[in-house]
Amino acid sequence: MTQAALEFDRVSYTYPGGQQALRAVSLRVAPGERLGVLGPNGGGKSTLLKIALGLLTPDEGEVRVWGMSPHQARREGVVGYLAQRMEAALDFPLSARQVVEVGASRRLAPWRSPPRAMRERVDRSIELVGATSYADRPVGRLSGGQLQRVLIARAVACEPKILALDEPTVGVDAEGQRRFGELLTTLNRELNLTILLVSHDIRGVAAGCDRVACLSRTLHFHDAPEGLTPQVLAEVFSHEVGAAFGGEVHVDAHHAHECPGGHTHDAPGAARREEGGERAHD
Ligand code: ADP
Ligand code: MG
Repeated sequence: MTQAALEFDRVSYTYPGGQQALRAVSLRVAPGERLGVLGPNGGGKSTLLKIALGLLTPDEGEVRVWGMSPHQARREGVVGYLAQRMEAALDFPLSARQVVEVGASRRLAPWRSPPRAMRERVDRSIELVGATSYADRPVGRLSGGQLQRVLIARAVACEPKILALDEPTVGVDAEGQRRFGELLTTLNRELNLTILLVSHDIRGVAAGCDRVACLSRTLHFHDAPEGLTPQVLAEVFSHEVGAAFGGEVHVDAHHAHECPGGHTHDAPGAARREEGGERAHD
């Protein structure tokens, strides 16, 4: 079997306060694959990403990131990461391009990265995410969607093999989600990036992913696809309530195209356009 981009083998994690966030989670993401992980708030999605990033260490189980431990992969810059909430408002006087440059230069030792090559990488990343027209604007004046693209450019400029995105389309309307899905398709194709996207929003997950897994503390990931039926979804999201009572939940992985029309699951008007409002949920 070829080396996995990301592999979890029966990984469990309990927070110091006693809250078990993940239980015996196993998953395998192939290089170049685009996997969406769908689950309710509190289902363990952010915890899963933080473990892959080496920010949290599991109590049990094995994690390999491109054959390395998460810590080693972190040192090597294997995973680019877009956190769930953007950190403190970026209103310092840097242009979008400078934000990308700062990120890119922090990762790469100068001797590995001649200034010209780095500049080209920065330019290419900005172009890939479609941020060229506002690259010289101060980041504090960008919309939420524009800022997000700049942060993705920053991650991509470090040449990661995997891009991990935590709830990237929260507060984005249907058209914005579609365009974001296209952006991921471009990154996936042009850079052969492996993409791992987690969200509680089925539309955000389903658009363009190769496979979808459902996570609600436990995750059952396999390659025999079944449809994401309304029954499965109801069960997964019932955990939003059920978690409080320690309920068991069925989880499955499916081919994304078998999702029952991702766009039909939200009531009209449910998706609000909130430029810069990515912090508005949960
Ligand atoms: P999701 O990203 O799917 O919403 P999380 O991974 O953030 O879920 O959280 C999973 C569970 O772990 C939740 O029950 C949450 O309350 C708990 N949790 C998350 N972060 C912490 C923390 N820092 N300390 C204690 N419990 C936490
Ligand atoms: Mg989360």
